[in-house]
Amino acid sequence: MDALVARAVDRLRSARHVAALTGAGISIESGIPPFRGKGGLWERFDPMEIAHIDAFLADPALVWRVLVKELKDIIDRAQPNDGHKGLARLEAMGILQTVITQNIDGLHQLAGNTDVIEFHGSFAWQRCLQCDQRVETRKVDASVLPPRCRCGGILRPDAVFFGEMIPPAALWRSQEVAARCEVMLVIGTSAIVQPAASMPIIARQSGAVVIEINPEPTPLTGVISNYLIQGKAGEVMNGIVSGLESTTARTEGGLDFRP
Ligand code: NAD
Ligand code: ZN
Repeated sequence: MDALVARAVDRLRSARHVAALTGAGISIESGIPPFRGKGGLWERFDPMEIAHIDAFLADPALVWRVLVKELKDIIDRAQPNDGHKGLARLEAMGILQTVITQNIDGLHQLAGNTDVIEFHGSFAWQRCLQCDQRVETRKVDASVLPPRCRCGGILRPDAVFFGEMIPPAALWRSQEVAARCEVMLVIGTSAIVQPAASMPIIARQSGAVVIEINPEPTPLTGVISNYLIQGKAGEVMNGIVSGLESTTARTEGGLDFRP
């Protein structure tokens, strides 16, 4: 892992355009469970079903009770971890420009990143199904479910449910950022939710070096990504940040999945 961290540091140091694509994995160390894999919170319901727009429209009170309220309580308490802080540090160092995130938890902004594309929308806001008015989630009274707008309409998270379209502006900008970057860090995403998973493909096809940070290999590993730094987002980002902060340029190589 150390040799690959050093290799990433070298590449990041010389790149002019750097982007990151993050998924639920980067927020696990902040206590927010992912939908898939170990540590999933929802045992009685499949989040892929309950987080579907059809499920919400069929029974908003149920989806609020088992998914939205639970997520609201967790996200309200969550703080950025070393993974988020590392990306904020990279921006402060002038290395990273844009974070494309699939997460709706707002932790990248809280850590200090200023250009965050929220690919799946945000949990910070709720939107009225009837009049489209937005309300800050922290101001929503969730004592009666589903919560309602002043007009009487039902409030829904201003996030993308399964079965819904990606906000077009987020999609277009992400594609542009992916096509322009020289390095893309792909952190904590299983890379199976589309179209987010196609951003590293666009980056690689446009000539970028794609570096994955994940404790597990993904469908990108060895196919799209140049290499995988296998580990938790927090510890790997700490390694990258201290490598970049140290003045000595290190030039060790590392195992590469590329032919
Ligand atoms: P995902 O598909 O992005 O999978 C999580 C990935 O994180 C896995 O590949 C796993 O190996 C990796 N991982 C586990 N621990 C890690 C660590 N410490 N550091 C780095 N990587 C780690 O995410 P999902 O849970 O299947 O979610 C699907 C979609 O649901 C997301 O794209 C997102 O829109 C939404 N979601 C968001 C949040 C959030 O906002 N924090 C949480 C759950 C789900
Ligand atoms: Zn309304």
